[in-house]
Amino acid sequence: MKFQPTASHFINGEYLESANGKAIDVVYPATGEKIASLQAATPDVIEKALRSAAAAQKKWGAMTGTERGRVLRRTADILRERNRELSEIETHDTGKPIQETLVADASAGADALDYFGGLAASLTGEYIALANGDFAYTIPEPLGVCVGIGAWNYPIQIACLKAAPALACGNAMIFKPSDTTPLSPLKLAEAFVEAGAPKGIFNVVQGFGDVGAALVADPRVAKVSLTGSVPTGRKVYAAAAEGMKHVTMELGGKSPLIVFDDADIENSVSGAILGNFFSSGQVCSNGTRVFVQKRIKGAFLDRLCTRLASVKIGDPMDPEVNFGPLVSQRQLEIVKAYIAKGLAEGARLVHGGTQLERPGFYLQPTVFADVRDEMTIAREEIFGPVMSVLDFETEEEVIARANSTEFGLAAGVFTHDLTRAHRVARQFEAGTCYINTYNVAPVEAPFGGSKLSGVGRENSKLALQHYTDMKTVYVSVNELQAPY
Ligand code: NAD
Repeated sequence: MKFQPTASHFINGEYLESANGKAIDVVYPATGEKIASLQAATPDVIEKALRSAAAAQKKWGAMTGTERGRVLRRTADILRERNRELSEIETHDTGKPIQETLVADASAGADALDYFGGLAASLTGEYIALANGDFAYTIPEPLGVCVGIGAWNYPIQIACLKAAPALACGNAMIFKPSDTTPLSPLKLAEAFVEAGAPKGIFNVVQGFGDVGAALVADPRVAKVSLTGSVPTGRKVYAAAAEGMKHVTMELGGKSPLIVFDDADIENSVSGAILGNFFSSGQVCSNGTRVFVQKRIKGAFLDRLCTRLASVKIGDPMDPEVNFGPLVSQRQLEIVKAYIAKGLAEGARLVHGGTQLERPGFYLQPTVFADVRDEMTIAREEIFGPVMSVLDFETEEEVIARANSTEFGLAAGVFTHDLTRAHRVARQFEAGTCYINTYNVAPVEAPFGGSKLSGVGRENSKLALQHYTDMKTVYVSVNELQAPY
């Protein structure tokens, strides 16, 4: 099998196979063929990963930020040199078109390594003057061994977004990829070693939820960063709380995208397409509730359907193809069930809605109009190519409806009215907001959710705070007075 890795896990600088682990079959979503077969970690593999990470962290944490940063930036260079190979792995693992994976996966991961590599040397504490010449200073210290747990939509990008700030701050990371897409994080582990990272500083352990749970529960683990669904987030957060561990939670969403009637129609249609159909709709921050002001509803839907007619669905390895299959048979069934619910609850199907008659897990990009707030497709995260278009009349009304969700990952507004754009962004109950654009997530700016969509932020300088503990040292230069 072309994509069969040397072994399932990467621990202490080398590949390692587990004896008798549960089978993890890797399937190419475009054909349904098995392309690799791995094994889930057994307890002895998890133990090896924890031991080697704990030992490596001591060495790594004692190095200077400049030295650590150099290793991260070298790793970024290696990922860039191998972008083609890594993108092919990612396309076969996830089914995403090669034209997407070439620009949004390993290369975005390399950006994170460059960015946090550059910041590693700038991590400093502060001097705090106190009474009578006494003072305090602070030391940002690594947390220790951090666990990263990934979802299946951006395997290597998620691994890099977690590993780069963690390692920049002097931590070690054990990363558990999604069992649906386990391949590319192994290549990241290889690149770290080639770049000169101490063995064990980034270990990859494969498995299902139980392997993630075992890592989270281990007392040697100081922090958990999860990218996944809200139900998993609840379990992982609760388990981490038992050991008072730090967490970052990047979870799901049902984000609103508001199009006012003064907006540029082509731009807002572009925003709705990028916010619903990139990666076949399997993006956490997607703006799946598209609120369109009544006066332009007809024009918006016309342009949307015309442009969707030119989508190129097909073999994800064809560089012309811009829409691939869903990641798995299971995800295809979940999304189809939501489409059936949309129809049953009275939404009007205006585009797509059916599975393609070909091998693989292909579904057409799907648009429902006349969607009402209480419909299931407007309330629950679908994680597939299904856009709901809802009508609205006034700004006040649409803000209340946009915020009427338990999620708070992202939100977007399209308008030419400058003051309204900022007023609306200010009122969104969401961690990541967009004005006249959608779904960009450059490493320089914080990304993350409010409400049930998450805790903490990835990307940006803020991420460093989530991977350090601040130690305060009080210093007296005076004689001490005690009462007796
Ligand atoms: P999931 O919640 O099913 O699984 C996520 C990861 O958690 C997997 O690696 C899984 O094995 C692991 N896991 C499951 N149970 C666990 C447990 N009890 N303890 C520890 N680990 C456990 O999510 P998924 O289906 O892989 O991904 C889709 C979800 O991820 C969507 O909800 C999507 O919105 C979300 N997501 C969020 C972001 C973000 O940045 N906010 C990015 C991508 C995906």
